Amino acid sequence: MTPLWTYKQPTEIHFGLGVRRALPDLVCRLGRRPIFVADRGMMPHANAREVLASLGPEAQAFSDIDPNPTIHSVDALASQIRQQDRDVVVALGGGSSLDCAKAACAIALQGGTARRYHSEGLALDGCRLPLVAIPTTAGTGSEVTPIAVLDDPEKQRKAPLVHDSLFPTIAVIDPELSVSMPPFVTACTGLDALAHAIEGYWSKNHQPICDALACEAAALVFRHLVSAFTAPNDLEAREGMSLAALMGGMAFQLPKNAAVHACSFPLSSRYHMPHGAACAMTLDAFIRFNAETLGKRGVRLARAAGYGDMLALAEAVLQLKQSVGLPSHLREVGVCESDLDSLVEASFHPLMNNNPRSVTPQELRALYESIL
Ligand code: ZN
Repeated sequence: MTPLWTYKQPTEIHFGLGVRRALPDLVCRLGRRPIFVADRGMMPHANAREVLASLGPEAQAFSDIDPNPTIHSVDALASQIRQQDRDVVVALGGGSSLDCAKAACAIALQGGTARRYHSEGLALDGCRLPLVAIPTTAGTGSEVTPIAVLDDPEKQRKAPLVHDSLFPTIAVIDPELSVSMPPFVTACTGLDALAHAIEGYWSKNHQPICDALACEAAALVFRHLVSAFTAPNDLEAREGMSLAALMGGMAFQLPKNAAVHACSFPLSSRYHMPHGAACAMTLDAFIRFNAETLGKRGVRLARAAGYGDMLALAEAVLQLKQSVGLPSHLREVGVCESDLDSLVEASFHPLMNNNPRSVTPQELRALYESIL
C-alpha cells in the first residue's frame, strides 16, 4: 500500500534558452517598484546589468550579501525594501542571493529581525512580497523550494529557514545565464542536484511524483554534467543541467533530504567544503549503505539513471566526482582519523531521520573510515 501523499509546487516556472527576455512582462504582473538583488561579485557582470536595465528606471539595486547569506544580509535587504517602498523583488544568482531574497521578502512585511525567525523559533505568518528568482547556477533548486539556508554568525548556527511563504512566486530559468559559471562551481552544484534527486527519492517521505522527477533529474546529471564541466559554452549540456537542478529541487522539496545532507553540514562548516562537494563526499558511500534496504526501489532509480543496480550507481557517482575534480576522500579536505568521533556526533542533524536505513553512530563512523 502506498502511504497518503500530497504534492504541491506553487512557483510558476518559466524555462528555456533566452527566457530572461520575458522578465519585464512577468515582473509588471507583480509590482511597479522592483528591487533587484544580486551579490557583490555578480552585480558588475553583464548578465546582472542586462537584467537590472530590463526592469526600467524605477528599479533599485541591493548587493550587500555575504557568500553564505547571513541573517544580517536578510535584515539589510528587508530594511531597504521597507525604506524604498519596494513592491516586488527580483533576485539573480546562486543559492546565496536567492535564499537571502526569499527570507527578506517575508521578513520585510512581517517585521522583526531575521534572527527571531531563524534562531529564536518565531513562526512566519505567510505574508510576503512577490519574488522572481533567476538562478545563475544549476544545482541548488532554490528557485522552486520553500527553504532559505542562513547563517547566524554570532550564534554559530547555519540552518535552513523553511516555510511555505518562502516559495518564489515565479522562477525564470534561462540556461544561458549558467554559461559563466566556473568549472568548479559547475561541478559542485551539479553534484548537489544529483544528491537532491537521490535523497528526495530515498527519503522516508518519498512519493510518486517526486520519485519520477528524481529519476529524470539523476539521468540528466549523468548525461550532461561532464560536458558542462569540460565545455562551458555547450548550451545543450547547460540546458540539461538547469533542468536537472530544477527537477532535483522539485524532487526533494516535499520529501526533504536525508543522511547525505545531514553529513554535509559539518563538512561544510568545519572543513569549508562547498555545499555540493560536501554532499558528493558521502553520496556513493550512502548509496552502498542504503542499497539493500531500498531493494527493488533502488534498482528502479539506478536503472533510470542508466546503471544496472545501486552498486553500479555508486561506482558511477564515484567516477563522476573524479571526472569533475571533486574530492572523494576525507583526508583530501583535512579530516584526520582523530576528528572522526566529533564529526560523527556533529552529523546527526534531524535530516538523518529521513534516511531509509537507520544510521547508528558506529555505522556512520565505519562509513567515514571507508572514505577516509
Ligand atoms: Zn543540497
